Amino acid sequence: MADYAPERIEDRLFINGEFVPSISGKKFDLYNPATEKLAASVYEAGVEDVDVAVKAAKAAFPAWAALSAAERAGYLNKLADAMEANIDEIGYLEAITMGKPYVGDFMGRLGVQILRFYANKAQDVQGDTSLNTAGSVNLTFRQPFGVCAAIIPWNVPLLMLINKVGPALATGNTLVLKSSEKSPLSSLVVGRLAQEIGLPKGVLNILSGFGRPTGEALAKHMDIRKISFTGSVIAGRAIKKAAAESNLKNVTLELGGKSPLIVFDDADLAKAIPASAFSILANSGQACIASSRVYVHEKIAPAFIEGMKTAMTQMGKAGNPLVAGTQRGPQADKIQFDRVMSFLQKAKDEKLSVALGGDRVGAEGEGYYIEPTILANVPEDSSVMKEEIFGPVVCINTFTDEDEVLRRANDTEYGLYASVFTKDISRALRVAKALEAGSVGVNCTSPTMAIDLPFGGWKQSGDGRELSKYATDYWTELKSVFIAL
Ligand code: NAD
Repeated sequence: MADYAPERIEDRLFINGEFVPSISGKKFDLYNPATEKLAASVYEAGVEDVDVAVKAAKAAFPAWAALSAAERAGYLNKLADAMEANIDEIGYLEAITMGKPYVGDFMGRLGVQILRFYANKAQDVQGDTSLNTAGSVNLTFRQPFGVCAAIIPWNVPLLMLINKVGPALATGNTLVLKSSEKSPLSSLVVGRLAQEIGLPKGVLNILSGFGRPTGEALAKHMDIRKISFTGSVIAGRAIKKAAAESNLKNVTLELGGKSPLIVFDDADLAKAIPASAFSILANSGQACIASSRVYVHEKIAPAFIEGMKTAMTQMGKAGNPLVAGTQRGPQADKIQFDRVMSFLQKAKDEKLSVALGGDRVGAEGEGYYIEPTILANVPEDSSVMKEEIFGPVVCINTFTDEDEVLRRANDTEYGLYASVFTKDISRALRVAKALEAGSVGVNCTSPTMAIDLPFGGWKQSGDGRELSKYATDYWTELKSVFIAL
């Protein structure tokens, strides 16, 4: 990565197949979280830019929806090839905006693979037939909504974009996507690649901007029939409200988590410890699925905590995301850094036991780096146990009884990911069934996922599913057709 330098960083909006400045000419700045220095300034889309993008998407819709699924798949596969060829640029831009280490750009390659999956899925979107009514053949059609919107977070920018663009375009919708104000640059590269592969104008529009006014304008827009959102519960609620108060557009939400991980006394600690440490340190803890609440059986707690201290210290070495070999970068920006630090301050104020870390890396260091942190024996009702910290901070508590630990694990408004480590197969399945979460890891934990299995939340973690055969269901309207014979 170190030898990569882009010729030019795109700063404009991608509307109707062209790059344009915002109508107001207003820009906002992005700072590199590793150096705290200005990384780029980009145009901010206002309400009027949203209108222009929606008009372009509306005009593009009939022709795009009329293409065969194979033709749409062809475009998406070309886009995946182009992303693969430009993975260094995407990795560089994510590193300088939100601090994701390049690490051979695993996420970029995974994203390309997922986009190819959605491209293939285009040709496997079907309705049903029914002969159950006498004198009729009945059918269902799955059809695109029309103009859709997507709003994505900053923590895995390319992957989040692909999980919206892939199924939206595969099913024949046109899209206006708003990237996160913390990481808009890699999305703009996708705009340029869409232009290069000849994606019809207006099919994909990419706007940079903040939740308000840009995201809100999308959520309220009367010509948008569906909005898919990934981000925090608070913004998800605002979007659902804006949809309800405008045209009741279809809303799907992929929200946060406070994922429990249960380690029974028969667990293979040689597997459980590195998996637990990686889960909370990957992406510097800025993952919706991070296993942030660990429940370890009392009998093995001392060995587990000692093992976690060693594993988190080794895995948690932080460095400049642009330097080859760096495994862990800083928090994404000052806001995120201050947020995590405020939780650590609360932990200190509440006199919680800090078994590891608990502070920024280096007293006056440059960059928004936070130490890998373990809080032990934390009261279940404290804010660090209840709220999403989004940093390299894990709470480790002990338990003795299966029913009791399940009750505590499920005592959360979130339900995104949960995990259990045990060698007892019956217990593993019993616990997997009892955990209230959209995904459960057995003898593994997040970020373990699979392209062909659905990903999404229970409870306040959301109501949508991405990946798998179910993903396209969320991007299509269902129509019943009754044919009297
Ligand atoms: P965020 O909710 O602050 O912002 C997400 C996006 O929403 C951004 O593009 C932002 O500009 C926009 N936004 C904010 N307020 C809005 C409003 N009122 N109307 C319209 N748009 C608005 O979240 P974030 O800090 O970017 O991301 C972190 C959150 O995302 C965490 O809660 C994390 O768990 C969650 N997340 C969930 C998943 C998942 O798949 N479930 C994946 C990644 C991140």
